[in-house]
Amino acid sequence: MPERYDDLLEKNRRYLWNPFTQMKELLADEPLVIERAEGVRLYDVTGRAFLDGNSSLWVNVHGHNRRELNEAIVEQLGRVAHSTLLGLSNVPAIELAARLVDLAPASLGKVFFSDAGAAAVEVGLKLAFAYWRRVGRPERRRFLALGNAYHGDTIGAVSVGGIDLFHAEFGPLLFEVERVASPYPYRFPGSAEECSRACLEELAEVLRRRGEEIACLVVEPLVQAAGGMIVMPPGYLGEVARLCREHDVLLLADEVATGFGRTGRMFACEHEGVQPDLMAVGKGLTGGYLPVSATLASDRIYEAFWGDLAERKAFFHGHSYAGNPLGCAVALANLDLFERERLVERVRALTPRLGELLAPVAALPYVGEVRQAGFMVGIELVRDRETKEPFDWRLGMGWRVCRRARELGMITRPLGDVVTFLPALATPERDLEEMVSILRRSIAEVTEAAA
Ligand code: PMP
Repeated sequence: MPERYDDLLEKNRRYLWNPFTQMKELLADEPLVIERAEGVRLYDVTGRAFLDGNSSLWVNVHGHNRRELNEAIVEQLGRVAHSTLLGLSNVPAIELAARLVDLAPASLGKVFFSDAGAAAVEVGLKLAFAYWRRVGRPERRRFLALGNAYHGDTIGAVSVGGIDLFHAEFGPLLFEVERVASPYPYRFPGSAEECSRACLEELAEVLRRRGEEIACLVVEPLVQAAGGMIVMPPGYLGEVARLCREHDVLLLADEVATGFGRTGRMFACEHEGVQPDLMAVGKGLTGGYLPVSATLASDRIYEAFWGDLAERKAFFHGHSYAGNPLGCAVALANLDLFERERLVERVRALTPRLGELLAPVAALPYVGEVRQAGFMVGIELVRDRETKEPFDWRLGMGWRVCRRARELGMITRPLGDVVTFLPALATPERDLEEMVSILRRSIAEVTEAAA
């Protein structure tokens, strides 16, 4: 087996460029090469098992290699693997659109399919922009986004993103965006409520000043995921939605990370009864099997694009693999499993248990805060718990903790000095316990050695 690993490693070195990865570091460290998986365990080509502590980048739901999901793909494969959705329809895409509208907030009536989460966000932005042109309000052409936001890596999604490390370099390519601070109570000199209020006042002020020029506000509901698993204070999201409504600004909810049960509701918008005009979903939509994403839109938006061919009102956007039948078939099987296993209720029921498991992690000397919304967890490492002074970023503490976790048998990724933990929603309790215990040991060992 090591020979095979060496051979693959050599090909990785020669041919493969991994995303969001410094190749020099990866190749010096010798990458893990995954060959198969079962439940919440990934196995590499040398036969070692690793717990999947970030559900393969927040996508896996029911565990890997689930019979029902595998069968759904095989069954669809016997019919048709792919057929375009441009000017044609296919059976699983229609069925999935109907299921999504049924599950989503009542404000959303139509489903537009893409492949990546970033594409679903792009579609939302373009729909908002084009909507106002079609209803005779072309001056509403600006976007409003939150600081510290992450919506994907394509240019439009980066424009509304706000994470300097990822986005600053591309500044000259981006369109201008109005930005308001997002509530980050941990770093705010006051209570969470005061933090929320200050951010909402700023938003209200921008809307008063420029509301008439704004096409839509884009927000990651409840949790800013890639921004560090920042959980919004209660009431904030509902108030954002109310302010948008008051100023007739469309609300685009980016549920790519939070959707499909992750926060203990099917969609995070539900926590505050938010009814968005547009909603982007991806990741968990196929249970983590195939790349399908979607932008849901209100009927009001859909109708603005309705007209005779000669009016040229159609939405000129579409990806080759939009509504891919294999992907839509596995998404339908995924939603069946959600229902059959009452998975969202399970996440809600296990959330306090996960919180209990994490309490000893939160008590570690170099942990500043443990943030949790359902099965979405961020553990912020700091040099000083009292002053919240961060570690020197060059120490790469988050990275080192995840590297140690890997040695102890679990895979996850850091966001700077925030260690993320997003287990698959169906992770058995005993595996959750083992995962958290690996986290705790990795954090304790690495931070104590460095301090
Ligand atoms: N929006 C949010 C909130 C995300 O967390 C992500 C990915 N982590 C995306 C969009 C982009 O999704 P994708 O990587 O599938 O393009």
